Amino acid sequence: MDDARAWVEVSLDAVRANYDTVQRAVGSRTAMIPMVKANGYGLGLDTMVRVMEPLGPWGFGVATADEGAAVRRLGVTRPVLVVTPLTAQTVALAAESRLTATISSLDALDAWSGEAVRVGAAPLDFHVEVDTGMGRSGFDWREVAEWGPALASRLTQAVRWTGCYTHFHSADSPDEGPTRLQWERFRQTLVQLAVRTEDVLVHACNSAAALRWPEFAADAVRPGIFLYGGNPAPRATGVPEPRAVATVRARLGLVRDRLAGSTVGYGATYVAPRQERWGTVTIGYGDGFPRALGGRGTALIRGRRVPLIGRISMDLITVALPDVPGAAAGDVVTLIGQDGDERVTVDEVAGLADTIGYEILTGLGVRLPRIIRDERDGGRGA
Ligand SMILES: *Cc1c(COP(=O)(O)O)cnc(C)c1O
Repeated sequence: MDDARAWVEVSLDAVRANYDTVQRAVGSRTAMIPMVKANGYGLGLDTMVRVMEPLGPWGFGVATADEGAAVRRLGVTRPVLVVTPLTAQTVALAAESRLTATISSLDALDAWSGEAVRVGAAPLDFHVEVDTGMGRSGFDWREVAEWGPALASRLTQAVRWTGCYTHFHSADSPDEGPTRLQWERFRQTLVQLAVRTEDVLVHACNSAAALRWPEFAADAVRPGIFLYGGNPAPRATGVPEPRAVATVRARLGLVRDRLAGSTVGYGATYVAPRQERWGTVTIGYGDGFPRALGGRGTALIRGRRVPLIGRISMDLITVALPDVPGAAAGDVVTLIGQDGDERVTVDEVAGLADTIGYEILTGLGVRLPRIIRDERDGGRGA
């Protein structure tokens, strides 16, 4: 860490604590399907699978066949559910990796059965997605009378129907109406399908829904963002604050006193009104720190908040150091995380950038080494 110009610290204890918070909310009999897609929400797929595997999840959720194959390469034998439709180009890899496909169409079921025959050995599993309003995938809940029987008639010995789920579009909204409506549509679909719950894992909840409506938890929940320290519903009440998982730090590369009238950054959007001390921080939007925070965000140095001035460059950010006594080149700068009593959350950064914590985390650049902090090992990196 000491030799990096900028880095991300990842707290494994925080992941464990957040997992525990979700598990407690939904009760110990509800299975967990932690979502580890998009490189474990940007923090490291391997790290996240390794830290959660011993916690006894039902399986893991991924978005692509490649991600599922990567989970398998880690030695995971639990189910690995791919939640997006498999493309013709990736279905073979999914089958060879013995992933659990999500089926949204009769053609997809036929393709999965075909792959299952080709791969041989044991049957391949799939979950059926019901579209209750999300609109991007799944069978339409209103048409269950058609696709339900058609699906049943196309089942072969080569595949096993092991799950059925839906996805909420507004679980983060202060308005509970849309989620309650989607749940009701899903419930009705299950009744019409006459799905036997003993055979099929029923699930619907992402992080926000699991924490806000544990009564919709059914057999399993699919939390993602909360595990990684993002608040899944910053505008709603009643969601506990997750423990921060990611800390983004860089260094003061340079500290200089600048004359009144000095300008900073592309477009020279900030002009020193008087003589000021500025620091140059060794991180930029090329590392995934949002450019939108230029002139709006703050960083922490020596436990104090300092403003980001001027536009953010690809590799550098400039800060004003009006009241950080002793600030010197080499000081650690915290862009996201805690320093002393001050804290910048991923959701604060997301709010200033007019986006969501998910985008901030998954956007953290490959240029930033991920430093794993396992507090159980006395804080040493693994
Ligand atoms: C990403 C995803 C989740 C997890 O959502 P969070 O809001 O991160 O908890 C759950 N289900 C599906 C289908 C997803 O794509």
